[in-house]
Amino acid sequence: MYSAVKTKNHNLKAKIVIVGAGPAGASLAIRLAKNDFSVALIEREKFPRHKLCGEFISPECLAHFAELGVLDAMLAAGGDRISETVFYAPDGKNVTVPSKWFNNEQNALSLSRAEMDERLLEKARESGVEIFEETQATGILTESGRICGVKLKRQGGETQELAADILIDATGRASVLGKLAEKIEIQNSRFKIQNSERKSQQLKSGKQKRLVGFKTHLSGAAIEKSRCEIYFFRGGYGGLSRVENNLANHCFLIEAAIVKEFSGDADAIVEKLIFKNKRAAETLGIAAPVNDWLAVSVDGFGVRNLNPAKNLFAVGDSAAFIDPFTGSGMLMALESAKILSAAIAENSFAPELIAARYRNLHREKFQNRLRLCALMRRAAFSPTFSSFLIRALSANESARAFLARATRRSL
Ligand SMILES: Cc1cc2nc3c(=O)[nH]c(=O)nc-3n(C[C@H](O)[C@H](O)[C@H](O)COP(=O)(O)OP(=O)(O)OC[C@H]3O[C@@H](n4cnc5c(N)ncnc54)[C@H](O)[C@@H]3O)c2cc1C
Repeated sequence: MYSAVKTKNHNLKAKIVIVGAGPAGASLAIRLAKNDFSVALIEREKFPRHKLCGEFISPECLAHFAELGVLDAMLAAGGDRISETVFYAPDGKNVTVPSKWFNNEQNALSLSRAEMDERLLEKARESGVEIFEETQATGILTESGRICGVKLKRQGGETQELAADILIDATGRASVLGKLAEKIEIQNSRFKIQNSERKSQQLKSGKQKRLVGFKTHLSGAAIEKSRCEIYFFRGGYGGLSRVENNLANHCFLIEAAIVKEFSGDADAIVEKLIFKNKRAAETLGIAAPVNDWLAVSVDGFGVRNLNPAKNLFAVGDSAAFIDPFTGSGMLMALESAKILSAAIAENSFAPELIAARYRNLHREKFQNRLRLCALMRRAAFSPTFSSFLIRALSANESARAFLARATRRSL
């Protein structure tokens, strides 16, 4: 069991505290527990919970699920198997990307995050991970300029301190621990330099337009099984696919300035803007939301600080955020957890070695695809450009396959 006291003595293997039980945090916890590390996983919410996401689980994720021991549970959860994704320009022109381009053996899976994340969390529990749900990380504990634990707040308001040799930020795009680390004085000039690099990265991302994501589950959507459809419209794009319980997930990303024009009313955006995409009007026209819209703000894409302090590492979206049109954010979360767990297992007592290994692996795996997505982003938010690209790609299958695969390709 985890003690609430700080410790200077290392056990045989480091104690690892992971904050955030999305796919990055939960899968990392499972992998580390399998390597006999003592792992605690902290999650603000009580699972199962709804989560804003397109809920398109890319085919390559299924190999990760098999390694993590959750594949059968995921496939039995009632989601839809997606054999193709069809991208629609506003005028109805479209291109198809078959799932087999990413994995010859498995289709993609469309399953709610409530179901998917719950299954990963349960597997982590079974693997011996100590789980704290409804518990928020609110601060970082330091000793001699080094992180030694995390401050927690339970839903009832009680507070607790948890010791950690290694702390992991898996809090998603919010990068909660990375931001907390920036605020504290870490007495190590290397980290001061990294933090100033991080600020310049944030400046770069500041040039990107602020976006807002919306999501709800619908009944009555006129979309066939086995398909994911993506609709482009002024200032954004959205996805529709079937999930469990005969419902469909509708999720879209749109410029914040346009959301303001509609006073934040998601239904009005759907009817007055998204329905200008002919295919979206057909599939969504008679659908009705079965729960409230979730909304989040999205402030930038690309790599963040992987190692905000000596023994603090970021994983999943906290480490790098890729454009949702690729349907590969969860894949990156699972992949980054896999490489971080390997770096920790190889170098458990040496944060500098873990950091160096993790940085190299992360760059090798993700740099190219993030660069490509930055180039493609312009098309995603301009109806004219997306129509042009869809027309061009519909005539050339090999260019389409090349581009689709490049959104996931390592160096
Ligand atoms: C509009 C949109 C659509 C998307 N669609 C898709 C898609 O179809 N397919 C796909 O693969 N990816 C998609 N993504 C990306 C995908 O959602 C993310 O890449 C993925 O969720 C990252 O996983 P993660 O574990 O890093 O973070 P998250 O899934 O965000 O998990 C972070 C967890 O940390 C918890 N947390 C946060 N702060 C604290 C705290 N202080 N204390 C304790 N816990 C905390 C949160 O409650 C959460 O459970 C989409 C993203 C957006 C914005």
